Amino acid sequence: MTPDAILALYPWALGTCFRCGEADVFVTHLDAITTPHGERYELSACGCCVLMLENERRRYAGRRGLDYRPGSLGS
Ligand SMILES: [Zn+2]
Repeated sequence: MTPDAILALYPWALGTCFRCGEADVFVTHLDAITTPHGERYELSACGCCVLMLENERRRYAGRRGLDYRPGSLGS
């Protein structure tokens, strides 16, 4: 699977990447966390970071002999 095909699995909108801190870039929503004070933070990642996270998952799955399914970050 090519990087383009992996990125096409996610919806994109302008925002800030939680991982590299890049602002005003296309990001995809991965998760949300709520602090003990009840503040909600959206975790969105840019294309570079999504590909890095996907690579980590692919390598992890490979080591454990698990199926790797791209496009499921944050779910
Ligand atoms: Zn990023």
